[in-house]
This record gives sequence, C-alpha cells and structure tokens, in this order.
Amino acid sequence: MVSSQSISEYHNLLVNGQTTCVEAVRHYLDKISAFTHLNAWLEVFEAEALEKAAVLDKQRQNGAPLGRLHGVIVGLKDVICYKDHRISASSRILENFTSVYNATATERLLQDEAIIIGRQNCDEFAMGSSNENSAFGLVRNAIDEERVPGGSSGGSAVAVQAGMCMVSLGSDTGGSVRQPADFCGIIGMKPSYGSISRYGLIAYASSFDQIGIFGKHIDDVKLVLDVIAGADAFDSTAKQKPSHIPARKTSYKFCYFKNALEHPSLDPTIANGIDRFIEKITAAGHTVEPVNFDLLDYIVPAYYVLTTAEASSNLSRYDGIKYGYQSAGKENNLHELYQQTRSEGFGPEVKRRILLGTFVLSAGFYDAYFSKAQKVRRLLVEKTKEIFHQYDAIILPTVPTPAYKLGEKKDPVEIFLADIYTVYANLVGIPAISLPLFKTEEGLPFGLQLMSHENNDLHLLSLSKLLINLQLTENNPHL
Ligand code: GLN
Repeated sequence: MVSSQSISEYHNLLVNGQTTCVEAVRHYLDKISAFTHLNAWLEVFEAEALEKAAVLDKQRQNGAPLGRLHGVIVGLKDVICYKDHRISASSRILENFTSVYNATATERLLQDEAIIIGRQNCDEFAMGSSNENSAFGLVRNAIDEERVPGGSSGGSAVAVQAGMCMVSLGSDTGGSVRQPADFCGIIGMKPSYGSISRYGLIAYASSFDQIGIFGKHIDDVKLVLDVIAGADAFDSTAKQKPSHIPARKTSYKFCYFKNALEHPSLDPTIANGIDRFIEKITAAGHTVEPVNFDLLDYIVPAYYVLTTAEASSNLSRYDGIKYGYQSAGKENNLHELYQQTRSEGFGPEVKRRILLGTFVLSAGFYDAYFSKAQKVRRLLVEKTKEIFHQYDAIILPTVPTPAYKLGEKKDPVEIFLADIYTVYANLVGIPAISLPLFKTEEGLPFGLQLMSHENNDLHLLSLSKLLINLQLTENNPHL
C-alpha cells in the first residue's frame, strides 16, 4: 500500500489480488495513529471501517461488480452528516449531537462503496482560515508542524496531505477547501454552486456554501465529483450533474486580474511563481491576457456582509431547546436560557459573526450594508459573464501568502482580507480549484487557482490536468 496511489491504481491492485480493502484500511489507520498530534480527526470509525472493508473484500472476491468508489477511504469534514454518527461543526453547541440522516453526498459515497473512516476537525461552523477556531483544538500542517494548515477545512486537507485517507470532503463558503489545499500542497476543488446537494451540510451561509473535494490526483477529484454531484429532491438549488465540456482545442484563452497580481498583500515569491507560470502557458501556445477587475476592493467586504447576515439567521436554530448543548445554569426564564446556552456554546469567532450579521441586517443599517453588498454581488455576476464570453478560465493565486505560523495572525480584519482571491468564486457561484504547482525556497507549497464558467466543472478539471502536465514536463522533461 502506498498513500499516494490514485483510486484507479488502487482498484487495479484490488482486482489483481495485490491488496485488499482490509489491508488498505489498516494502512490508513496506522497513518492516523502515527499523526494523532496533527489533530486532524475528531473521531475515527476504526472498527466500522474494518468491518465494511471485510464485507467489500468478500463481495469482490465473489465476483460482484465494483462500485465506483469501491473501498476508497474517505474522511468527512465535521459539517457533513453521516447517519448515526456524531457531528459537531467543531462546536461545543453540538458537542454530543448525532446525525439522524445522511447528507446526500454521504449517501452517494456509501452507495458507490466508499469507506468513511472518520470525521475531521475544522474551524467552528466553518468560520475561519487557519483551523485555530475549533472548539476541539487547532490542527497542524504536516509540512511544518508549527504552521497552520489553513481553514476552515484544515483537518480534511491535512488528512489527505499526510496520507491518512485517500480523499476528503470539505465545505467551501469563501475558500475553505481551496485555501487549506494551497497551504498543504494538495488539490482542493469547489464545484459550481448547486453542483453538489447541500442536504445534510451544516449551513454557514446558504447562498455561498458548497461541498468541495480534496485529493492528490485530478482524476480522483473528478470521480468523486461525478459520484456525489447532481440534482437532489432534498435541495432545490442542486442542479443536474455538470456534463458540458467544450470541444477540445489546441490553444486556450486564459485571463488574470492585473490588479490582483499586483496587489500589495501578495507575497512576491507567489507573484513571481505565477508570472513565470503564465510565461510557460504562453510558450505552450495558449493565450494569457490581463483584464481589469475594478471590483477587487469590494469583494471581501461584500462577502463578509452577506455571509455573516446569512450566518446570523442560520445559526439562530441553536437555541438549547430543540437539540444540542443546553446551559445547566439557573436561568429564570426562556430568554435567559437562550442567552446562557448561546454564550457558553459558541466560540468567539462565531459570536463575532452572529453580531456582525445581525447588525448589517438591522433596520437602520440594512440599506447601508446588506443591500449595497447585494448590489456588488449583482455587478460581479455581470462582470463574470463578460469575462467568460471571451476566456476559458481565470488564473489567480489561491492565497496571498504561504502557510503562516500558528498564533501569528490575530487581527480578524487582516485574516478576512487574506480571502481576497477565493471569495469571488463563491459570490458568483463559479467552479474554482487550487492546484499544488509551486513551492517557496523554504519548501512551503502554494497553489495556482483556476476558475471557469458556471457549470463548466468538467472543463475546469480538464484545464487543470493540462496545467499540471505543463508544470510536470517543464520540471521533469522526461515525464
Ligand atoms: N475564510 C472564510 C471565512 O471565514 C472562508 C470560510 C469557508 O469557506 N467556510 O468565512
């Protein structure tokens, strides 16, 4: 067993009798125990995963056809429901809560014979960029354990990075799959809004949330997307499976936002890496052009106004009455019980966002903040249409800096501003992916972000493959 093989390589080994699902599960469980100090997992379903693997081995050996994810070892961010298993969104308020149903994504993984090995640590309610906001402790980056793995899906990224599972599902509301993928040196994809049903995904900001996929191979990401994407009776925003791939061309048209690549917050090593890569793309016969993107300064503020507004409403359900944590204090009335429960159950970042969201929606400030942010969103949608009228894809960095040290960033506004390259895709619903193409001199990874038009998820994946191969052949001319 090697942790870096692709799903199809693993399936070949299984079919040729060179390994078994039980052996694979044992291998990943060993890795999980070797890396417990990274704190990527909130719970590991050890006995259950081994049992399921034994059943799958028997079925296969009896000649049953293989499910598309037969024996594939998957981790779930702790915001995706798995029936009869605990789920907490890394929050005290849901600490002992058990899912009573499967998320549609979970259901589809299981139908195609995946093995879910555990639930993964994340920022509380998926709010954050460093995984330092979990009620159950921070997560460490396996490349440098003193650095953050990124967030909010930090545990899911580290689990794939350190070979503790083959693929993970995370959620991406403003970059929470792509940003940790960038910091950890793996692939992280946020599909188009509505590609994957949100049924059974704990809501942060419903018009932005999307389940995303972490992996080490583009083909694995594509396969998992194909299994879990598609319309769903339980989520009316889930669309038909993306199927549109424009005809293959020998030369593609890419663009980048000039002011984004010249932004003062962008680390010069990253800017150089991307500039040089743009030259390679051009040398390979494609076109890469700068476009003006005047709305750049507005995207982070618009994102935080709209997502906190939605969060303040979504999180009002955690009241200590229906389910989840309830304060054990001596409250005198219902109002005090709500107040105590929510004060004790939510962490500081979640409280900050509920307060901010409530403020921007309040009668006196609604027009100044919420409706303005919605107008920005509308302008962005129009600009995006214009761009994809002319170009196949947009190239951007994923994050302005590589992974920083644990505890290094404390100012929330500084942390929010570092979402400058990721939130745009969620504001307009387009698919986006972070590809692990670069490393700094110190050996820290950073990614290239690629975005394509809404519902062109398959096109995005084929362009990703093209760019990965371009980088591989440049670095290793013999490949
Ligand atoms: N960093 C962003 C935030 O805190 C992204 C979160 C996410 O995508 N879930 O809102």
